[in-house]
Parts: sequence; structure tokens; C-alpha cells
Amino acid sequence: MTNNEPIIHIDHVTKYFGQFAALKDICLDIGRQERVVIIGPSGSGKSTLLRTINRLEHINAGRLLVDGVDVSAADVNINKVRMELGMVFQNFNLFPHKSVLGNLTMGPIKLKNIPREEAEATAMRLLDKVGIGDKAHVYPRQLSGGQQQRVAIARALAMNPKIMLFDEPTSALDPEMIGEVLDVMVALAKEGMTMVVVSHEMGFAREVADRVVFMDDGEILEVGPPEHFFQNPEHPRTKQFLSQIL
Ligand code: ADP
Ligand code: MG
Repeated sequence: MTNNEPIIHIDHVTKYFGQFAALKDICLDIGRQERVVIIGPSGSGKSTLLRTINRLEHINAGRLLVDGVDVSAADVNINKVRMELGMVFQNFNLFPHKSVLGNLTMGPIKLKNIPREEAEATAMRLLDKVGIGDKAHVYPRQLSGGQQQRVAIARALAMNPKIMLFDEPTSALDPEMIGEVLDVMVALAKEGMTMVVVSHEMGFAREVADRVVFMDDGEILEVGPPEHFFQNPEHPRTKQFLSQIL
């Protein structure tokens, strides 16, 4: 039986930092195996929205369900929810004192009680998949930015998540390394991973996004397929923003 319930249900979510409303009445449903790309100016609330999904930020109003689980409920097992959500950050956030292999095996061994041998075998398979099987025994600082970000993606995948969240995964990279990271993300999308990606890489959006979401000033102003944003964005703010990034 297929499950048509959205895997992420964001229902009138509002988030304040003090008096400042970073998210204002956000509604967005994300389907299973859907790819959503979020764009918008700096400070518009994109990271905050991603971070509310795994409760790195608490919401002040509304409801947010991940695979049917209310992440803001007092009695939620948030660690269980987080295991379903892989997250990749702009600055990689690898463990500097662990080898690449150690970065990939720590979560599965400590949080999922996977036997070390099995965790290492999975890690090697994932490192091969992201094209750095030969780097298992080096440390993050010995890798380029593009390689570190591919390790970060492999590390998230090692937990076997249902959903992958990416927050500007290529923004900190030198231009020549952006492609190698996007290639990994495109491959993941083609395998059917559910993905929520904050990124201004519109080539990527065009290739894999089912929908693009434009945020401004804590609000969702416009949602549509990528072609909509290339051909006839409606909102003046969207047009203005796209004219700056395209
Ligand atoms: P984006 O990712 O779109 O650049 P953010 O979600 O990071 O935007 O931030 C949205 C707004 O919320 C910004 O004005 C930012 O300064 C503010 N903000 C984000 N995090 C915090 C925080 N921890 N404390 C106070 N203000 C914050
Ligand atoms: Mg951000």
C-alpha cells in the first residue's frame, strides 16, 4: 500500500527570535520522494525553516509533523525523528578528530547499535558512491572542500534517513568543486530520496526539483515547478531576487 500522506507537514508555523518573527505562518507539505528547493534572500528564514523540521529550532505556533510525528509535542522522541532526517550544512561540520571512516561509522555504531564491521562495510560502500572510497583513512583537514562535503553527505546517508535536508551545501565551496557535490545530490534525487534543499543553484533546481519555494522576510511568497520561476515568476520580489541570481 502506498502512503500518500505528506512526509513533512508544516502547518501555520511561526517562529520568533525574541520579538522578531523569523517564520510567519508557514504552510508547506512535502510529499514522499519529493524534491523541494528553497530559495530566497539572506535572512529570509530558509535555514530557520530547515532547522525547525528536526527541531534544532522550536516553533512558537503551528504544527510540524515528520512522517506523522508531531516534532513539537512535549513527549516526542526527537532522537528517533532525527534519525530519519539527514542534514548537510554549508560548512560540512565533520568531526575533525575522526577519520573519514570514523565520521561515517560513529552515528550508526553509537545511536543505532550497528556492529562495527557492518557499519564500516556500509561506510565504504557510501564513500565509493560519493567517489572518495580511497579517502576512508584520512582526516577531514586533508580533504578539499568538495571532498569534505561529499563525506558529510555520505555520513548523513550512513544513518539511512528517509529525508535529506541540505542547507546551502555548495555555498562555501570554490566554484570548481560545486559540480562534484551537485552530481552526488542529483544521483541521490534520481534514486528517489526525499530532499529539501536550500540552494541558489538553479541548474540543480531545474534538473531535480519538483517544486521551488521562494521565501522572503519569513514568508513563503511563491511556490511552483522550476520552469515557473524561469518563465513567469509572479511576485515582484521573486522577479527581483531571480534577476540577481540568474
Ligand atoms: P536565511 O537562512 O534565509 O539566510 P535565517 O533563517 O538564518 O535566514 O535567519 C532568518 C532571520 O532570523 C534573520 O534575520 C536572522 O538574523 C534571524 N535569526 C536566525 N537565527 C537567529 C538566532 N538564533 N537568534 C536571533 N535571530 C536569529
Ligand atoms: Mg541560511
